[in-house]
Amino acid sequence: MPDKILFVVNKTSGENNNNWQAGIESYFKGKEATIDFYHLPDPVDCDSLDQYIKDAKAKKVVAVGGDGTISLVAKSVTGTSMILGVVPAGSANGMAKELMIPAKLEDALQIIEGGRQTSMDTILLNDKHLCLHLSDVGINAQLIKNFEDGDTRGKLGYFKVAWKTLVRRQALEVTIKNEDKSFCRKAIMVVIANAGKYGTGAVINPEGEIDDGLFEIVVVKRLTLWGFLKIMLSLGFDHKNIEIYQTRSVDILAKHRAHFQVDGEYIGKVDKITAIIQPGNIQIMLPEA
Ligand SMILES: [Mg+2]
Repeated sequence: MPDKILFVVNKTSGENNNNWQAGIESYFKGKEATIDFYHLPDPVDCDSLDQYIKDAKAKKVVAVGGDGTISLVAKSVTGTSMILGVVPAGSANGMAKELMIPAKLEDALQIIEGGRQTSMDTILLNDKHLCLHLSDVGINAQLIKNFEDGDTRGKLGYFKVAWKTLVRRQALEVTIKNEDKSFCRKAIMVVIANAGKYGTGAVINPEGEIDDGLFEIVVVKRLTLWGFLKIMLSLGFDHKNIEIYQTRSVDILAKHRAHFQVDGEYIGKVDKITAIIQPGNIQIMLPEA
């Protein structure tokens, strides 16, 4: 029997009204693979999606959407023999960029059909959140919350919200306990990084490898006005204000509850984060190295 590929399509993501299903069907016309589609309802019903993926018995399950859609599909695929694929179709494609998956539909489908199958690490946060990309506590999570709360439109709107968040920034007081040491820091944010860069292109963690069985804790001690502008302009972080620690697990305790986000999804305020690496936890199709 030919391999089955299930496409999980988020039709509301992205700015264009591409007919993803038609494009995918036309690519696979006359080919061996059996293809199936699941269109995400709005709001998403996670349990139905999970059940559909389990029942589909597909070899590959492809997220057609942005970072949020990848996270959703990854939750069902992780720890199984199913292989995750990505078609970048969101307004924020940070994860796809990180994985070097091309934006053009045909090119992305070629990787799903005949690219390189590999395993990547994930990070389990507070026993329940799955992180593939970047999670953080502090100003970036606060920014995500402020964007969600406000009626933010356009680049200028985003800049205004970002500016307000920056001006009101407060340092966190955190205790970080990793495998071999415990230390206290004042920080503007602490990142738990499986990967290297944010969707804007700003590199936070140059040491990040998605398959080395380790993750990085990135402590951003200060954020100056110029440092902030550099991030907004995708010039990267001021590395003299950053400390990076590589580890397999960490406990982060914050003196005061602080905003927390996982792979771009705002979680809420927390005063404790436990993170554990899950080596090779997910199978994924990537471009040839
Ligand atoms: Mg790593």
